[in-house]
Amino acid sequence: MSASPSKTVAFCTLGCKVNQYDSQAMLEKFLEAGFEQVDFDQAADVYVVNTCVVTAVGEQKSRQMLRRALRQNPQAQLVAAGCLAQKDADKLKGLGVRLVVGNQHRGRVVALLEEAVAQGQQTVAVEDVSKIPYEPLKISRQEGRSRANVKIQEGCDRFCAYCIIPYVRGTIRSREPGDIGLEARSLADAGYREMVLTGIHLSSYGRDLEGVTLLDAVWQVARVPGIDRIRLGSLEPVIAAAEFVKALAEIPQVCPQFHLSLQSGSDSVLKRMRRRYCAAEYLAAARRLQEAFPGCALTTDLMVGFPGETEEEFAQSLAFCREVGFARMHVFPYSTRAGTAADRMPGQLSREKKASRAREAIALSEALSESYRKALIGTRQPVLFETAREGEAIGHSPQFIEVIARGGQLGEIARVQITGLQGEGLVGTII
Ligand code: SF4
Repeated sequence: MSASPSKTVAFCTLGCKVNQYDSQAMLEKFLEAGFEQVDFDQAADVYVVNTCVVTAVGEQKSRQMLRRALRQNPQAQLVAAGCLAQKDADKLKGLGVRLVVGNQHRGRVVALLEEAVAQGQQTVAVEDVSKIPYEPLKISRQEGRSRANVKIQEGCDRFCAYCIIPYVRGTIRSREPGDIGLEARSLADAGYREMVLTGIHLSSYGRDLEGVTLLDAVWQVARVPGIDRIRLGSLEPVIAAAEFVKALAEIPQVCPQFHLSLQSGSDSVLKRMRRRYCAAEYLAAARRLQEAFPGCALTTDLMVGFPGETEEEFAQSLAFCREVGFARMHVFPYSTRAGTAADRMPGQLSREKKASRAREAIALSEALSESYRKALIGTRQPVLFETAREGEAIGHSPQFIEVIARGGQLGEIARVQITGLQGEGLVGTII
């Protein structure tokens, strides 16, 4: 397979922000090799599906997209990357995948594919991820014009009872702070003004590096000229100790928006989930952030229908969410993942019960979101505009609430008087 400019590649990315980053890094390798990118629903010479296994639905969709790619062009070379590739490499070969590349070796994706095609074989480039170093991927741009994800960490060793991620993403690996700074600088030079620091378990950043903490990573980005905003991906409450929160509040670009993973507001469920905090510790962390960043938006993940979750525990969980006062919640019904501790627990709930609890939790999330946004009406917010639609510009406030206003310039921050709610966001007038 020669990489002539007429060769095309199409990407489909499922799952989290880390996967988006990994896809972008692989895409740039293809572009460097002379490929042209086309949409996934077009006929392409190469399809890359960056897969996800965090829920049964993510896994199913990953397989569907691989099959869809081959239907669109049966002659195409198919690459399966990411978490399903890591978990089920041999099964994917059965789907006709030419190259299975797991959660390492993504930087060599083009060379590995060329080799597999030249040798007329199916290649599995999947490593044991329990003892490997950080794979130094890099990106120079991203979809959208103003916000970029910067990956700073890989892997998780917490082994929460329901989660399959540690098995497929492997051990904790942190990116060198200097390398984070370099990437942030090149993205800032390309015009990105907002950086989102992402990782599989961000709170573990630096544990494998000598004398390095998450704050060092944030400062690497904060020191880059031209970066106005820094956001952090999902954090665990245990990291939000008084010292950390105080130090974070001294970094002017850090946005008042934190995703603090909760999963359940019931202590007994948290214990069964093997989460390492109780509701009181979570609340204390939330209050510290709310105090240091007044009016900040706290968002979270809430899992409903964990094995054995009683009506009382579920009610406790929702009451706790009301008490914290989240700006939004991502609600997930518990999804059985073979090989995890929770999969073998008694008291598995029916699909209907999980769905009805999810509906109730989503209704609460909507109510909390509305009340959080209503409190912003009448305030003035700096909005970074990212896209335009029918004469209106759309961007985000520091709290990561979508704001729509007429006349906003893409890539620029403007002050907006918030006048009302629109959809899941806000609407306002540039002042
Ligand atoms: S902290 Fe728990 S839920 Fe998060 S990735 Fe690690 S094992 Fe999964």
